[in-house]
Amino acid sequence: MYCRGIVGASTFAMPLVETEAIVLRTYRLGEADKIVSLFTRQMGRIRAVASGAQRPKSRYGGSLESMSYVRLWVYERENRDLGRLNSVEILESFFDMQKDYATHIAAQFVVEVAEQLLPERELNERAFRLLLVVLRALKQFREIDRPLVYFDYWILRLAGFLPDLTVCAECGRRFETDAAYYAERLPGLVGPECRKGLAAGARPMSAKSLAEVQRACAAPLDKWMAEPSKPNGISAVRELLESIVEAQAERRLMTRGLLAEVT
Ligand SMILES: [Zn+2]
Repeated sequence: MYCRGIVGASTFAMPLVETEAIVLRTYRLGEADKIVSLFTRQMGRIRAVASGAQRPKSRYGGSLESMSYVRLWVYERENRDLGRLNSVEILESFFDMQKDYATHIAAQFVVEVAEQLLPERELNERAFRLLLVVLRALKQFREIDRPLVYFDYWILRLAGFLPDLTVCAECGRRFETDAAYYAERLPGLVGPECRKGLAAGARPMSAKSLAEVQRACAAPLDKWMAEPSKPNGISAVRELLESIVEAQAERRLMTRGLLAEVT
């Protein structure tokens, strides 16, 4: 489908693209419009202009709420960063999660990490499915630890940043029952034998919790959520993974501090 647009004297064609997407966030643009940051299934992460979206009776209604799973049609303009949204329909809303503050912050964290770690216009079907699965688990279970650990683990792994959590990054020895240590400048975790010279701030982690989490993340999240309780020490593993995510994003994540306050 094509739309003929006119700029000055020249006519150009703008292809209208249909895609599924997750709304990451929106920014105000001037008095009436918004820029929408989207993670699309067919084009990867993009930004597009939603004309009139700030108006009270906007045709977009609630479809541009952060985290909405939508189907949309966007005009893609050659050599332009920003597409132009044509229409949007909601497939699944996560708006209700706002009622539970902790769940809401957890979902905002997912969205912020997606925006920071996923490169623009790079197709990533597995990351798309990951976001959906994690948002649905947050919505359904109102538990933060397992969905966020699963999210951090996989978003790091899909981006190629995840170290093996069960072996020492220095000497390759498998952690048994002892502690493993993490410090930000390291490529992964180290055992006590390689700990010498590490900054005093290096945090000890339970090798057992790390192995348990790595095992759980190898299966679908639904299976893990069906287990009656979360593993001991999972909050520490979540903190560790968040540190690695933040180190990769090379900036402080706004929602990480908020998460620490609610959990
Ligand atoms: Zn070692």
